[in-house]
Amino acid sequence: MEKRRDRLSIAIDGYSSCGKSTIAKDLAKKLNYAYIDTGAMYRAITLYAMEHNLINGNEIDLKTLEEHLPKIDISFVFNRKTKINETYLNDRNVEGEIRRLDVSNKVSLISTIDFIRNKLVELQRKMAKEGRVVMDGRDIGTVVLPNADLKIFMTASPEIRAERRHKELLEKGEAASLEEIVKNIDERDLLDTTRKISPLKQADDAIVLDNSKLTKEEQLYWLVKIVENIQKG
Ligand code: C5P
Repeated sequence: MEKRRDRLSIAIDGYSSCGKSTIAKDLAKKLNYAYIDTGAMYRAITLYAMEHNLINGNEIDLKTLEEHLPKIDISFVFNRKTKINETYLNDRNVEGEIRRLDVSNKVSLISTIDFIRNKLVELQRKMAKEGRVVMDGRDIGTVVLPNADLKIFMTASPEIRAERRHKELLEKGEAASLEEIVKNIDERDLLDTTRKISPLKQADDAIVLDNSKLTKEEQLYWLVKIVENIQKG
C-alpha cells in the first residue's frame, strides 16, 4: 500500500485552453513525477496528416492515414535546457509546430478517429504503467486511466481561456486575433464533448477545479494539499 501511495497516477482533464498543461507541468515538477501531455500526441498526428496532404477542409483520407499509422512514431524526450518533455514525431522535434493555430484548427477532427484513439490510448497506458505520472487530456480519468488515484476536471470561463491562449500565441510570435481563438476554442469544445468515442466529460469521481480566478500558485497549493492527503492515506 505504501508503495502505491508513492507512485500515484494523476489525471487532469478539461476544456481547451483552461490551463491544464501549465498546472499539470507544475504539479509533476513539484512531485518529481513525469508529465504526459496527451493533447501533444493528437497534435503530432494532426501535423503528420497535414504534411502528407491527408486533410482537405474537413475531409480526412482515413484509408491512407490508417495505412500510414504503423509508420507514425510519437515519443517525448526530456530537454535538459528547457526542462520539459518535448514531443517527437518520427525522431523530429515538433514541440513548436504542433502548437500552431492551423494544427489546433484540425486536431479535434483527427481526435474523433477510432484507430487513432486506440493507438494513442494504448501508448498512454504504457507510459503511465509505473505510476508517478501526471497526465492531462480529455479522456484520461474516464478512459485512459479510469483507476487513477486522483482525477481533476478543469474549467474556466470562455473569455479567460481565450485571453490566456491569445497571450500565449503572441508570446510565441504567432499573430492570431482574439476572434479566431474564441472560434477555435468553441469549435474544439463542441467536437470534443459531442464526439462518439471518448467524449470529454467529467468522471464521476473527479474533483472540479475552476481556475477562472485563481493564480498558478493558488492552484498548485490546492492540488499539492490534495495529493498530500492521498499520500497520507
Ligand atoms: O490539450 P490540447 O488542447 O493540446 O489538445 C488538443 C486536442 O486533442 C483537443 O482539442 C482534443 O480534440 C484532442 N485530445 C483528445 N484527447 C486527449 C487529449 C487531447 O481528444 N486525451
